Amino acid sequence: MAKLDFNFKDIVDEAQDVVIVTKASPLDEPGPEIVYVNKAFTALTGYTAKEAIGKTPRILQSDDTDNETIKDVRRALEKQTHIRTTIKNYSKNGHEYWLDMSIIPLKNSKGKVTHFAAIQRDVSDQKSLQHQLETLSKKDELTGLLNRRAFEKTINQEFLRFLRTHNKFSLLLIDIDKFKQINDQFGHAAGDQALLNLAHLFEFLFRSYDHAFRLGGDEFCIILPDSSQIKAMITAERIRHMVEKTPLSIEQNEMAMTVSIGVSEAMETDVEYQELIERADKALYQAKAKGRNRVVKFTTDLL
Ligand code: GH3
Ligand code: MG
Repeated sequence: MAKLDFNFKDIVDEAQDVVIVTKASPLDEPGPEIVYVNKAFTALTGYTAKEAIGKTPRILQSDDTDNETIKDVRRALEKQTHIRTTIKNYSKNGHEYWLDMSIIPLKNSKGKVTHFAAIQRDVSDQKSLQHQLETLSKKDELTGLLNRRAFEKTINQEFLRFLRTHNKFSLLLIDIDKFKQINDQFGHAAGDQALLNLAHLFEFLFRSYDHAFRLGGDEFCIILPDSSQIKAMITAERIRHMVEKTPLSIEQNEMAMTVSIGVSEAMETDVEYQELIERADKALYQAKAKGRNRVVKFTTDLL
């Protein structure tokens, strides 16, 4: 290649991407010393070159930086190979950002790796979009509760935990009574409002949406971790009672709404979580058959 009559360092200094060069060692505490940072580094992190040089890139990390990623980076540095990964870092004023980071080993004229160069791009916007999409895919559009997909995932996790710890958890299957009538009498929009009201009630009762799900239509489910059937019955009765006592306001009319609830708990004999759902479903069916606006727990005579 013909000799280029300019300084490559000028390109690196002015690049949009962050460039950091560190010594190749020590990888253990206190970590390899920074010997160079470009302007983009200062713009992103708030540390001037003077502040950063002599320190280690660990000043940009915190306890909650993903340990697995840090281990992957460490392994690559030990092997002196190239690595590309995404990592969370913190600016000088504590602001968090996500980086798409490549680390390249740099060799001296004798072929020995003496430094590493990290080239980093701020991907916080993409990360937050990705996070938003993930959240959206878990949520029921109308009520903002978690959807059936999230339910399957959560109950699976709870069930695996139960198999490990033998700590019982329970399920409440909740279905609005005669919901079709609300739709027929007051219209679909009023029906939607009723579904929203119920979701707000769950938020009020549980302080978080974490374990309340809309499975579809007018059917909801609550997963109660560390809860036996007896405890779950008390919670279910509170829900039933609150719904009954909270009339819907529709076009200046107040309209009563009730729910039926089926309760079941995880059992040692269960092989898969579907059995737990089936029992709650049978109990709910009984609650409807017995006249609605009631809580029924699963017992073997429902079989
Ligand atoms: P039951 O007491 O036996 O549960 O009677 P029900 O009328 O509630 O019967 P069911 O649970 O089978 O009916 C559910 C109804 O919910 C049927 C459907 O028209 C209505 N529905 C389902 N999804 C929505 C929705 O997103 N918005 C509204 N407004 N209605 C919905
Ligand atoms: Mg119903």
